[in-house]
Amino acid sequence: MTARILVVDDIPANVRLLEVRLLAEYFEVLTAGNGPDAIETCENGKVDVVLLDVMMPGMDGFEVCKRLKSDPATSHIPVVMITALDQVSDRVRGLEAGADDFLTKPVNDLQLMTRVKSLVRLKSLTDELRLRASTTRNIGIEELLSRNFATEDTKPKVLLVDERKSSIERIQKMLRGSADLDVATDPNAGFFQAAETAYECVLISTAFADFDALRLCSQLRSLDRTRFLPIMLLADEGEEGRIIRGLELGINDYLTRPIDQHELTARLRTQVRRKRYNDQLRASVTQTIEMAVTDALTGLHNRRYLDSHLETLFDRAVARRRPLSVMITDLDRFKSINDAHGHDGGDDVLREFARRLRKNVRGIDLACRFGGEEFVVVMPDTDGPIAEKVAERIRAEIAQAPFAIGSGGKTIEVTVSVGVSSVLRGADTVAALMKRADLALYEAKSGGRNRVVAKAA
Ligand code: GH3
Ligand code: MG
Ligand code: MG
Repeated sequence: MTARILVVDDIPANVRLLEVRLLAEYFEVLTAGNGPDAIETCENGKVDVVLLDVMMPGMDGFEVCKRLKSDPATSHIPVVMITALDQVSDRVRGLEAGADDFLTKPVNDLQLMTRVKSLVRLKSLTDELRLRASTTRNIGIEELLSRNFATEDTKPKVLLVDERKSSIERIQKMLRGSADLDVATDPNAGFFQAAETAYECVLISTAFADFDALRLCSQLRSLDRTRFLPIMLLADEGEEGRIIRGLELGINDYLTRPIDQHELTARLRTQVRRKRYNDQLRASVTQTIEMAVTDALTGLHNRRYLDSHLETLFDRAVARRRPLSVMITDLDRFKSINDAHGHDGGDDVLREFARRLRKNVRGIDLACRFGGEEFVVVMPDTDGPIAEKVAERIRAEIAQAPFAIGSGGKTIEVTVSVGVSSVLRGADTVAALMKRADLALYEAKSGGRNRVVAKAA
């Protein structure tokens, strides 16, 4: 896992110290000596995690954090506050400024690495969602996405998994005003309860007599329905090794006993806020994509989506020096299918064609209805020879079994012609790539149809 970490501290020696340790773990490191510089670096994008000193002359860390978190362009970047003072009030101030975590100086090596890694993992999830969101935004439906993500108004539904009566009562009292709390005293029952109910956070005690709390954490992380459910570990003093293992398993946060009420509520609020943000982003992305970029007849993406997303995939492939191929398919003599079987018969063919197309491409391939009876598949990480094989497989799959028309058992033979092209090293563009595929398709048509032509260059 590699990521870009911004280290912010007014004392150059402190910056250097963290930089060296992060570089040793193969992170990329950016640095800033004051708040305004740090904000500017974040605005320019490409920061995955910020390690932020609290005490700086001029703008202090709290203020920097508050500004980063209130700007939609930077609010998704995780911020870890680094403070010299081991004071609960400082941590609470940091978390209230929106910090995702904090570390105390002198910074413990293992803690630094596990926390940075856990935040990087979370960030890459958010990034993927934001990438898709911006694809839909390019298409001109930003009004749906710009909805204010109100995340604070309802009490979060929280599950506490703990078997000690006194500890349960204490947490219940602390969260009375700020969470809707359920309790599971048996960890196995707690697991099923977490999977069945829409909790927004689960608090797991490490203090079970004969059960390893980390087992529950790993079970929750491996189940689809709870994969994104925030987990906070309630640990005892001296359980550092266990906490670190928990962070590696993907827990989101921890508290050490004796638990401070302010810290518990502030950290819980941070987890819930982040979950709600991601959930709404995900729902909004799903909804907007469904509404605006799906072809109603076939359920595939439509041309608007292709136009916008192909650009992103192309840029990514070029930047990473990875191959990328596209194919354009066009049904042969489709007009005569319409003529013989009516427009509805033609639509049946298009639907079945889309089904077979989807069945024969990978999940990461982007299959779109380009228009009429033309379809495009964009294949990331796929070079020309492999793309040609995929195209040939699709061609064969269409020709090999007749298509059903209507519900009366009528069937017809259908064939397809396919043009394939791949990104060239050196100067290439999306337009040129598509043009080459189109020319290849034209050759397939004039060469007799029911065939694949690939353009090497
Ligand atoms: P070729 O082998 O050269 O591709 O021949 P073709 O008949 O497929 O040629 P052409 O591309 O000119 O014809 C495409 C036809 O597809 C014309 C149009 O009526 C039909 N068509 C386009 N969209 C739809 C649709 O949504 N449903 C149906 N049923 N037909 C469509
Ligand atoms: Mg056509
Ligand atoms: Mg055609």
